[in-house]
Amino acid sequence: MADEFDIRSNASDKEYENRLRPLSFDDFNGQDDIVEKLKVYVEAARQRGDHLDHVLLSGPPGLGKTTLANIIANEMGVGFHVTSGPIIDKPGDLAGLLIKLQPNDVLFIDEIHRLSSVVEEYLYSAMEDFRIDIMLDKGANANSVQIGLNPFTLIGATTRAGKLTKPLYDRFGIKEHFECYDANVLKTIIVRSADILGVPIDDDAAYEISLRSRGTPRIANALLRRVRDFAQVKGNGTIDLAIARMSLKIMNIDQYGLDQMDIRILTTMIDKFNGRPVGLNTIATAVGEDSNTIEDVYEPYLVKEGFVNRTPRGRIPTEKSYRHLGYTWNYNNDSMQGTLF
Ligand code: ADP
Repeated sequence: MADEFDIRSNASDKEYENRLRPLSFDDFNGQDDIVEKLKVYVEAARQRGDHLDHVLLSGPPGLGKTTLANIIANEMGVGFHVTSGPIIDKPGDLAGLLIKLQPNDVLFIDEIHRLSSVVEEYLYSAMEDFRIDIMLDKGANANSVQIGLNPFTLIGATTRAGKLTKPLYDRFGIKEHFECYDANVLKTIIVRSADILGVPIDDDAAYEISLRSRGTPRIANALLRRVRDFAQVKGNGTIDLAIARMSLKIMNIDQYGLDQMDIRILTTMIDKFNGRPVGLNTIATAVGEDSNTIEDVYEPYLVKEGFVNRTPRGRIPTEKSYRHLGYTWNYNNDSMQGTLF
C-alpha cells in the first residue's frame, strides 16, 4: 500500500550502498568543515609516518560516518576493520580484533555507545598505551600477561555522543558532529550516484529528490533507487522532473520528505497534547516508538527544518507543523494551540 511505504526499510541494502560509497575525500560531498580538518590531520599523520589520533564521529544515521571512516583509512593508506558495539560481547572478542591490527590501521566501531562496560574498560589501555591485558586461567590461578599492540586509530561512530562515558569520550583526540545536509549538496550526491548507476537524471529532478531526503544521503540514494524504477517502467529511463514528482507522490513522500512516523509524531503533539510542551518519553509512548530512536533519527531533522522546537519545558510543534498538516494556528500568551479546520 502506497501510504505504508517506508523509505528506511528500503535503505538497508548494503550492496547498493557500498556501490555508491565515496572512497576519497574529493568524492565526499558536504560536511566541509569536518573534511577540511580531517584532511590536515591525515596529511600530518602521514608525513610523520604516525597513526592518526582516535576519532569520534557523531550524528544521525545515514549521514556518512561509516563512509568518512573508510575514507580516512584509504587516505592514510592503511587497513580498515569494521565492527560494532553490540557485536563485541566480551573483552576476548575485542582482543582478537586488536591483535590483528597492522601499524596505523583503522578500527571502526559503529554504535560505540552500545559497548558493554567491561569491554569499554578494556579498550582504555588499548587506546592510550596500545597494550592490553590478557587473562590466563581463572580463579586461584588467575594470571594476566600484557600484550603490546601496533599503534592504531580507533574511529567510533555514534548517534549520541552524550551517551558515551566520560573516560571513553575523553580518549578521543578528534571529535566531530555531523549535521543534516543542505538540499544543494544532496543534489550533487544524487547526480553522482545516478552517474555511477548509469541512469540519466535531469538537474531539477535531482533537486526535487534532494528536497525530500530529510537531509540524509542514505535516504537520497534510496529514493533515487525507487525513482529509477518508475523512470524505467513508466517513462523512457531518464529521470526527469515529472517522473520524479510522480514517483515521490506514489511513494507518499511529502514536500519536506516527512514520512509516516514524522507525521504521526507531529499530529500526536498537536492533537493529543494540544501543542503544549511535551516530554520525549511521553511522545514515544503515544506513537509507539522507542524514545532513543525518536531522539536520534526523527527529531534532528524535525528540529532543523523548524517543525519542532526543543524548550526546557519539552518539545513544542511550531507554526510550520500546524500549517503543513492543515491545522489552523493560534498563538496565545502562555500556550500554543491549534484547531483542525
Ligand atoms: P552512517 O554511517 O552515518 O549511518 P553511511 O556512511 O553508511 O552513514 O552512509 C550511508 C550512505 O550514504 C552510503 O551508501 C554513502 O554512499 C552515502 N553517503 C553518505 N554521506 C555521503 C556523502 N557525503 N557523499 C556521498 N555519499 C554519501
